[in-house]
Amino acid sequence: MAYYTDNSKFDKITNPSDVWSKQFGPAETVPASGIYRCIGCKKEVTSNKGDKFPPQNHHQHATSAGPVKWQMNVWTNTEGK
Ligand SMILES: [Zn+2]
Repeated sequence: MAYYTDNSKFDKITNPSDVWSKQFGPAETVPASGIYRCIGCKKEVTSNKGDKFPPQNHHQHATSAGPVKWQMNVWTNTEGK
């Protein structure tokens, strides 16, 4: 889980769009800038829109953890709106 210092600085999203629920594999294109969490091991990465998620060799799982899949955890408001 991402850490933060003051909950009032953040807005909780109440009507999440699809980008919050989709999962992305290694080296897929990042749809929106933010912090993504691997659903298998909870490792997190920050990724920018249009870049690629880390490659397959970024980290490995035991078989029981399943494949590396990234899911949005925190969206970064890069436009300041
Ligand atoms: Zn992982």
